[in-house]
Parts: sequence; C-alpha cells; structure tokens
Amino acid sequence: SAIANPSSLGGEPEVVIVGGGIVGLVLTIGLLRVGVKVKVYEQARSFREVGAGIAFTANVIRCMNLIDPSIPVALRASGSVATSNGGAEDPDDYLRWIDGYERHREDPRKQRLFYKLSAGPRGFEGCRRDQFLESLVKCIPPNVVELKKRLDTIEDRGEDQKLLLTFQDGTTAEADAVIGCDGVKSRVRQILLGEDHPASRPSYSHCVAYRTLIPMAQAIEALGEYKATNQHNHVGPNANLLHYPVANNTMINAVAFIRDANEWPDDLQTVAVGTRSDVQAAFEGWCEPVRDLIERFPDTMSKWAIFDLWEFPVPQYNNDRLCLAGDAAHATSPHHGAGASQGIEDALCLSTLMCGVVAETREHPEAKAKALTAAFRTYDAVRRTRSQWLVNSSRRVCDMHQQAEWADDAKITKAETVFEEMRDRTFKIWHFDYEAMLKETLQGYKQRRGR
Ligand code: FAD
Repeated sequence: SAIANPSSLGGEPEVVIVGGGIVGLVLTIGLLRVGVKVKVYEQARSFREVGAGIAFTANVIRCMNLIDPSIPVALRASGSVATSNGGAEDPDDYLRWIDGYERHREDPRKQRLFYKLSAGPRGFEGCRRDQFLESLVKCIPPNVVELKKRLDTIEDRGEDQKLLLTFQDGTTAEADAVIGCDGVKSRVRQILLGEDHPASRPSYSHCVAYRTLIPMAQAIEALGEYKATNQHNHVGPNANLLHYPVANNTMINAVAFIRDANEWPDDLQTVAVGTRSDVQAAFEGWCEPVRDLIERFPDTMSKWAIFDLWEFPVPQYNNDRLCLAGDAAHATSPHHGAGASQGIEDALCLSTLMCGVVAETREHPEAKAKALTAAFRTYDAVRRTRSQWLVNSSRRVCDMHQQAEWADDAKITKAETVFEEMRDRTFKIWHFDYEAMLKETLQGYKQRRGR
C-alpha cells in the first residue's frame, strides 16, 4: 500500500467532501462552523458553473441561515433578486402557470393565467449559479478546497483507521468520513452501492432543457413588461417554457423543457449544443409571445439531457463512514426547481449531526468512528424519504406541465384540474418544517448513541 502506517483515528473529526458544487460548498461552510476539519476535493479546474439561473425559496434561505449566516449573505452578494416585481401594491412572489398555446383569440398577445400560488414577500430569490458559487468560495478559508482532484476509490482499512481516498492523478488523502456531494454521476455513490447497482447510474427522464439568458429589454419586447419581469411558466403539449428575472433584473433566465421520446445513449455527453431551430420546432403552434421570445434565443445554447434517480432510487444514503448528499443522493429532474434546495436541507441535517459528533468526540475521542456511523445512519433515516419523494414528484409535475390536453379546447377544463395537486406538492416543498427535522435529527442521534 502507498501508506505503510495509516493514521489512526483521534483528534477532531476530519471529513472529506467530494465535489465542490452548491451543496458541497454550503456543507463545507456548515461543517467548518461546528468545528469539523474539512477538505473538499473538486475535479474541475475552477469554479466556473454555467451562467444559468437558480432560485431558492424563503424557507430554504432560512435553512441556509441556520447552517451559517454567511450563506444568505453570499447569495445576496451574487445579485439575487426576488423573482416578482409587483411593486408596492403586491409584494408577494408567485409561481404562475399560463396558457402557452395558440388559441386564435382576438388579441393574439393575450395569454390566460391558469393558476398562481403565492410564496409571500421575497418568496424566492433567483441568482446566477456561477456568481453564487464564487461568493460561497469567498466564505471558505484558503487551502480547504483542492481543485483538479477527481476521486477514484475509497478504501476502508478498518474502524480504527482513516479511510483512504485515491484520486485519478494517483495522489491520496485520508479522512475519518467521506461525504459525496459529487452530483448526478456520483463516484461516491458507485463506491457505496457497487458499480453494478442500478442506482449507480442515473437514467434519462426523456426531457431535455434548453437554457439561456436573455437581456431584459429583449424579453420585454417579446413578452411585455409584466410577464418579462415576473416569473411565468407557459404550459402546453409536450413542452413548457419557464422564465424569471435574474442578475438584478437585467436579464431573464429562460428554460424550454421539451419531451423527447428517444433514448439518450450512455456515451453521449449530457450537455450538448442545442439550436434555436430545435426549440422553435417543439413550440410550433404555441402563442405569439412564446414564439417571439424563442426568436430571441441565441442561435445555439446549451441543451441538457435530464437524468435522475427516479427509476432506481438509492436504497441507503450511508454506509459506515460514507454518505451521500445533494444530487449524488437524490438527483432529480428540475420541474419543482428545488433540487439544490433539497441538498441545502441535507446540509442542515448533516451540520447539526456533525455538531453532535464534535461534542461527543471531544469527551470520548475513542468513539469517533461509532459517532460518525450513527450520525450518517440518522441522516439517512431523516432525509431519505422526503428527498426521494421530490424526485418522484418532479416527474409528476413535468407530466402535468406537458399534458396533451393543453392543446385541446374541449379538454382544457379537465387539464386545469391538476392545479389542486400542484398546490399540495409545491406547499410540501415551501412549507417544510425544518425545526421538526432538526428535532428528529437530534433525537435520532441521541437514541443511536445512547448518551
Ligand atoms: P453539482 O452541482 O452537480 O456538483 C457536483 C460537483 O462534484 C461538481 O462540481 C463536479 O465537478 C464534482 N465532481 C463530480 N464527480 C467528482 C469526482 N469523482 N471527484 C471530484 N469531484 C467530482 N435547484 C434548485 O434548488 N432551484 C432551481 O431553481 C433549480 N433549477 C434547475 C434547473 C435546471 C435546468 C436543472 C438541470 C437543475 C436545477 N436545479 C435547481 C437543481 C440543481 O441544479 C441541482 O440539484 C444542484 O446543482 C445539485 O448540486 P450538487 O452540489 O449536489 O451537485
């Protein structure tokens, strides 16, 4: 072995986080705050995320604040704005679903609002991912994050010794525990479950997303001021078009979700170059404002094949001193817009547990491995059902957005009956009782440790 005398356990818990995406970095800040020694290994050369938008609900921003108050500050420093602009008359943020299909009305620019849900004042805040990541990195001391480190293997050399990680460049590292925040194609998940396990690979959701940012002035030309400056989801047969303002209202983030009956070959990159004409073809027969907006899409843009863990969910998020968080544990299609938010809830649960582990190992250093194992078991028990529900529910929401009935005048009332269900599902995300989660987390850990 490369290391003849592996380090034994002792001292403060040393945790490695694999993957420096949003969840990995938020968790890093949380663990540092409770006194864990953290190292992050990220395969990329830099923190360049795609410049696409991402939104968080007020509830999740409160979870961020509990993890560490610097996180919501970082979010706001990255130019996050409330996604609605109703002015003093109506300060609430809403989700709005509107008729995207062509109905040959007198005014071809008019679209009927089917339904809206209030998330309250500053109910969501949207920002650019790359800017948020940059702000998060600034909250982390230097030398915690190492770039250009792609995890290959993790070896468990026994309970009294540290885990040994090997990277593709041949270097190694040691840790008391490893948390895989390495996204949808997680290597830690493969190591935890075995490469042949069906959940070791995500599957194609048969939906592709074309994402782009459009300058606000152009969006206003196409949609009119109100629609451009407020979140809207245009629904119709086999596709939907979602947009909301980002970057201090200077741009909108627009995403066209299009159903795809074909398979997505395993060896093909999941992010490809998409063309405006692909999008135009999918939105043929849709109303004028939607077509006008698509005309303002760039000639080419990123096209994302959406993969998730719906077909084969992960049976357990932990194994001894390994665990999974964020997309690595529960990669979801993005139709609830809450994938990263689930990861933030994971990070809150894990930071709380690690606070318990730090306290316990200060008094009982010999109990470190058992304390870490109990923490990860508790995490699995607290988080798995809810986060896997989200994966399931996101698929259901996509089906509701893209019903064939949206195109059929005779069936439009039937189509609209989905909104009661949409409300219940959305509220389950927005009104999550994280205080109850924290109580369950602390109780679960205490029970498992018998202290
Ligand atoms: P990732 O962001 O995928 O990060 C994983 C990191 O691990 C990467 O940096 C990667 O380079 C690194 N890595 C991978 N393998 C290795 C390895 N072997 N060794 C070292 N490093 C490795 N969520 C929301 O909450 N709100 C939204 O509005 C929203 N909108 C979305 C819109 C779209 C179109 C999509 C596709 C998703 C959306 N999501 C949204 C979901 C959100 O993007 C993801 O849930 C979130 O990015 C997951 O974060 P993560 O840190 O778990 O994984």
